[in-house]
Amino acid sequence: MVMPMISKKRFLLLALLVIIVTSLVAMREVHSEEEPVVSYLGPAKYYANYSSACIIRVDDFVADPAKLTTIDFNMGKRTVSFQNFQMELINYLVVHHPEARLVFGIITGDASGENNTQLWSLYSELVHKYGWEAASHTRYHLLPPRTADDIAGSIRDIEGNISNYRVNTYIPPYGKVDGNELNMLRKLGIKIVMSDKPLQLKVPSNWYDMHITIKIDGKHPWFMKFLEVTHYLNNRIGGVTVIYTHATSFDWKSPGQMDSYFNETLSNIEDGRTWITVPSELHKYSVESKMLKVVQLNETTFEVSLKKPVDFQPIPVTLKFLVDGSVKAVYFNGTSLPELDSFGYIPEVGYKQIGNSLLISVIPNGVLQILSGGND
Ligand SMILES: [Zn+2]
Repeated sequence: MVMPMISKKRFLLLALLVIIVTSLVAMREVHSEEEPVVSYLGPAKYYANYSSACIIRVDDFVADPAKLTTIDFNMGKRTVSFQNFQMELINYLVVHHPEARLVFGIITGDASGENNTQLWSLYSELVHKYGWEAASHTRYHLLPPRTADDIAGSIRDIEGNISNYRVNTYIPPYGKVDGNELNMLRKLGIKIVMSDKPLQLKVPSNWYDMHITIKIDGKHPWFMKFLEVTHYLNNRIGGVTVIYTHATSFDWKSPGQMDSYFNETLSNIEDGRTWITVPSELHKYSVESKMLKVVQLNETTFEVSLKKPVDFQPIPVTLKFLVDGSVKAVYFNGTSLPELDSFGYIPEVGYKQIGNSLLISVIPNGVLQILSGGND
């Protein structure tokens, strides 16, 4: 009969197939003692694989030293005065929470940079050493419609006084901005416009209308409970908490009250799962991680690139891998990356292995090579 013949042939083919597969698997196992088996899982949503992000925004920093104790706002017909606590806030944070970062909206004034080099070198240190972000809050803090001198002038003041720095974020005074102003900001290369509207819970889809999650001040202590709830929620949904206040008597009775609320806020936010970041950094991270393309070239080598070029200086993004074995070294474009004890808040290149999971932060583009310590 014909049927049994075919079955026999099929059986032999199947047996041969089993032998091939078994020996391939065996070869792979022998191989894995020398090289870790690495698989790429994807980009981390946030730097260092944090669960959520947090931005702390403080408005009304003034670059004019004449306004360091009292700020006057000219609101059309009336003038309102407030006590200014910006120096107290800076000192408090740098001493007690040097890891915490602010985006601070600066009112630059029109004599900016002439007699106040000390204040500008302090801003420069906050930006370059502590990773804070200096945002434009105009020159004169007026209501719209605003002039080019008021807006473009304030950006020039900041970029002219803080070396190697580009202004990415604009905070309109009184939370009010008109269409002409937004067009002007686009031409000036501004990437983010922050408003006072609630309620920011996710990564913004419109970076020209970034809302706030919560305003903190000394008048509404129960907001601290609301912050606890939104922060808890954001850790679960992978969202963003934008905390907003002023370092003035507009929001606080005294510098001491402000400092203790900042302390409480930070002890709430800093749970090891939350990335304290600034708007331009979050924007860059979010653009880059969406554009990321990772191609596996062989068992331990990956090509990391961005699908499209970006119009800014890229920052480190975190890639997630699953590894079988312990990693001895990670090379990116032939250079060995530092092994990190822990990731901080300011994105840096390096890697960290925890069990089978491996996090690597690199600045695209390049070739990544992961070496194991298997045999030594
Ligand atoms: Zn303001």
